[in-house]
Amino acid sequence: MKPVIAIVGRANVGKSTLFNRLVGGRIAIVEDLPGTTRDRIFADVEWSGRKVTLVDTGGLEPDPGSSLTQKVKGQVEAAIAGADVIIFLTDVREGVLSADYEIADLLRGCGKPVVLVANKADNARLDSQAAEFYRLGLGEPLIVSGQHGRGISLLREAVLGHLPAESEEVSLELDLPKLAIVGRPNVGKSMLLNAIVGEERAIVDEAPGTTRDALDTVYHYQGQKVLLIDTAGIRRRGRVEEGIEYYSLLRALNAINRCDVALLVTDATEFLTAQDLHIAGYVKEACKGMVLVVNKWDLVSGGIEDYADCFSERLKFMSHVPVLYVSAKTGHNVEKVVPEALQVWRERQKRLPDKVVDKLIKDAVLAQSPPRKGLKRLRILRAYQSDVNPPSFTIIVNDPELMHFSYQRYLENRLRQTFGFRGTALRFSFKKTTDKRPERTGV
Ligand code: GDP
Ligand code: GDP
Repeated sequence: MKPVIAIVGRANVGKSTLFNRLVGGRIAIVEDLPGTTRDRIFADVEWSGRKVTLVDTGGLEPDPGSSLTQKVKGQVEAAIAGADVIIFLTDVREGVLSADYEIADLLRGCGKPVVLVANKADNARLDSQAAEFYRLGLGEPLIVSGQHGRGISLLREAVLGHLPAESEEVSLELDLPKLAIVGRPNVGKSMLLNAIVGEERAIVDEAPGTTRDALDTVYHYQGQKVLLIDTAGIRRRGRVEEGIEYYSLLRALNAINRCDVALLVTDATEFLTAQDLHIAGYVKEACKGMVLVVNKWDLVSGGIEDYADCFSERLKFMSHVPVLYVSAKTGHNVEKVVPEALQVWRERQKRLPDKVVDKLIKDAVLAQSPPRKGLKRLRILRAYQSDVNPPSFTIIVNDPELMHFSYQRYLENRLRQTFGFRGTALRFSFKKTTDKRPERTGV
């Protein structure tokens, strides 16, 4: 269970710059997603051994028609609803503006820890101006410069200090397959959940030891226990204001972080929206499994072909994901949802012998030469599967810097062609060999 940290603040205070600084120049692995104003808005990072998810809420595209004030409000409310710690960014050069007061009003007493940050303090001369931010009533501002890297480690420590103790997060749910039902408001998540567990409600019980949401349910499917996540969020629907999709996104983030396989529910009458793709992109980035559940199929007169084309175009980055066309209302195909998700879960448990992986990768290298930079060419010395759930592969190379995204994708496709791993993301890590032989140049 990874805590979520959200960055909020009015436009131009430096959220995106700080986000990139905190993420630390990692390679972006999610292709551009429509509907985002930034290259990336989510990232999993590790601070002092603690894994957290960082969200730049300023990068979410709100309803196109909404006013600037509504945008900021939506951003802040999303952070309050879905984040564990909120970083509230202000601009020390501009001082306290009325929009800052408005954000502070929303944040004060919201029940979530808030770290107030006076940004753009590029040099010590500007530090004294930060005192003004006490007026926001959120305590002492931390003085940083996202652009120049000042005060960043203190900021990290402040955030870490607000996280729940790690032991509190340990739960008894470890080896149950964990499925999260996620999606935008009104796509039919609750109805689908009811359709899945409906008649068997009698054997649905509350999960013991799940800390974040006592209302997660354990579902018994043909002798297999399954944990269904974030059903509580669905039941608490009253709090979700229609129209602001931020909420569902951050809520989905929390659920995805905890699950093995996400059931991404979409509305067939809307094809795939930008927000659906956001969620899909995050499932991939979090290295989870996914089943795309196209709901409200009863309302569609066209054929599956039209959809399949649209999906394969828009979900290029997850072409291996199974798609189900269902109607929670009529029950059409609902019985396939959990079995399909469990199939993806099983794919995630698969472990290949070292030799098999090594041979496959080396054959792939023979079939298509690795990339080169200048005179240096990538050499792959050894490959093996280092973990399951998610299936993780370690590849020992002469120089990890030479690995190119497209070549990684090529290797991934080769693995999938032979071994399936249908519906689940794979994790790769490229490690430099400890072999000190001089590097051959040229081919
Ligand atoms: P956002 O709209 O809050 O995400 O803000 P951006 O990250 O896009 O930054 C807005 C502007 O402020 C850009 O021109 C940045 O270069 C600039 N900026 C961001 N951080 C700093 C900083 O620490 N110091 C200074 N001087 N400028 C900054
Ligand atoms: P949630 O916000 O994602 O949990 O969505 P709900 O389960 O509350 O459903 C939103 C609306 O869509 C409700 O009015 C449902 O009756 C309707 N709905 C859900 N599933 C279906 C379906 O398969 N077919 C049709 N026609 N309507 C559906």
